[in-house]
Amino acid sequence: MSAFENVSVLVTGGTRGIGRAIVAAFAQGGAKVTFTGTNEAAAAEASAASGAPDQCHFIQADVSSADGCQAAVDAAVAFGGGLDVVVNNAGITRDQLLMRMSEEDWDRVQDVNLKGAFLTTKAAARRLMKSKRGRLINITSVVGITGNAGQANYAASKAGLIGFTKAVAKELAGRGVTANAVAPGYIQTDMTADLPEGAAEGLMSLIPLARMGTSEDVAGVVTFLASEGAGYVTGQVIPVDGGMVM
Ligand code: NDP
Repeated sequence: MSAFENVSVLVTGGTRGIGRAIVAAFAQGGAKVTFTGTNEAAAAEASAASGAPDQCHFIQADVSSADGCQAAVDAAVAFGGGLDVVVNNAGITRDQLLMRMSEEDWDRVQDVNLKGAFLTTKAAARRLMKSKRGRLINITSVVGITGNAGQANYAASKAGLIGFTKAVAKELAGRGVTANAVAPGYIQTDMTADLPEGAAEGLMSLIPLARMGTSEDVAGVVTFLASEGAGYVTGQVIPVDGGMVM
């Protein structure tokens, strides 16, 4: 039997990058995977690239909208016959030095990265509690632990996500639901494609394993946290960063 047979998974922001690899990893493991995003064309590519398109279901939904998050949870329940695993992955950057950061860029990053996770988790909580193996996995960032110049909005949202994860872990533990955060370091995706000149080299010099991470590196840890073997792990932040932060 496949590792995730009869398991229903919801991944926010599954159309590209890390989310796409998470969708593929669960689908290949036999899960029924519902994923969200705002770009329908990229969604079709993500399903095809998963290697198990029949196991994947896309719903267009913006995580910053409560209605969108409820619709995503409802779609996952309908497609998967319940809901066992939620991965809050959708995220954006709007980088700028503090003195030049607009209120709009501050708000949008909180709305997608932090409020999106709250809205999705709230909509899913009852379903997770009903599951025999409810798992919440939030994609934070090493930047939420260390901070980073030019990313006050992003770092605050990711640090907030860590606090959120620990609070929810304590609230839902009595119902058998685990909640953990995964903190990627420097991963090769669209998000890191346009770093300012010199920034990429500077980051590389901080990584003991001396390479950028892949989306699959992150997906491997996410599927581990959703596996039977991780049932006694909760409230933790697991860096996937080649040793960047230790
Ligand atoms: P990408 O920019 O490659 O992909 C972001 C994904 O989020 C896309 O699928 C996008 O979908 C989705 N998304 C963005 N806004 C929304 C929204 N409002 N509603 C629903 N979906 C949305 O980023 P990564 O794959 O690199 O990042 C994934 C997660 O990992 C993020 O939370 C990011 O902060 C985190 N992370 C990434 C690191 C890296 O080095 N890449 C390092 C640390 C953390 P669409 O385009 O369809 O809207």
